[in-house]
Amino acid sequence: MFTSIVSVKLKIVVFVLIVALFINWLLPHFLVMGQKITHKVFQQVMGFILKQQTKTYETLYSNNFILKYTQEDQDLAPLILQLAEDYLFRIEKILGIKQQKRPIPLVLYSDEEALNKSFGWSGDKSTVGVYWAGTIRLLSPRAWSENTATLGETFEREGPLAHELTHLFIDEATKGNYPRWLTEGVAQYVEAEITGFTLSEPLEESKVNLYPFSRLDNNFDQQPDQILAYWQSLQAVRNLLEKYGKESLLVLLRELRQGESFPKAFVHSYGFTFPEFEQEFKESGLK
Ligand SMILES: [Zn+2]
Repeated sequence: MFTSIVSVKLKIVVFVLIVALFINWLLPHFLVMGQKITHKVFQQVMGFILKQQTKTYETLYSNNFILKYTQEDQDLAPLILQLAEDYLFRIEKILGIKQQKRPIPLVLYSDEEALNKSFGWSGDKSTVGVYWAGTIRLLSPRAWSENTATLGETFEREGPLAHELTHLFIDEATKGNYPRWLTEGVAQYVEAEITGFTLSEPLEESKVNLYPFSRLDNNFDQQPDQILAYWQSLQAVRNLLEKYGKESLLVLLRELRQGESFPKAFVHSYGFTFPEFEQEFKESGLK
């Protein structure tokens, strides 16, 4: 009798242990799956909302994009689609990543109010382009360029398309699992390669007081010196690419896509910790 109670108890303990081990092994897979599903559902919901918001807009298709625009911009629309196709090809080459999302939704808003309204912003934020949940929203150069005779050229030279399209690449490559400074750094790096455009540099005295990268992850937009936040992100990505090559960045993106946390993905890709990189970057990366 005693032996049989012990044996039943032992069986229960073994069973509970096996279930615990199984859950322990399964849980990370469920979390990764959950994150990927959330990312996809979020994009689909936002895509549906955007479709409703722009149902009175004109539509033009190219191989990889669908562009929504208003009649005032009908002369610009073909050029923007042609640029988008060209940039897509060049970004794939620069980053070594094939973009799978098709068609990529682009919206060209005629004024800042219309662009802001599409997010529910109060209108005090000033921007010429936004990447948001799988969609690229652009402000027509008629709203931000004074030289109306060469709007197409101005958009090509100063427009945010290459930058925003790179954000889409990073979002898709990692299924939304990336720190904000990383995507801002890569987007500026690619933009500079394609159009030659870079933001102005911060003051020398600002450069000695860099933001901790942890602050540039979740609270990027809240940092008071935005020029420093963008510049620091670009320098970090440049530093990583120049010292350790594109291959390591691709490994990092792949690990993030698989749901790995950023600190672990970073160690696996570079062989040292992110705090070690941050320390070295602060000491020597900016010279
Ligand atoms: Zn950006």
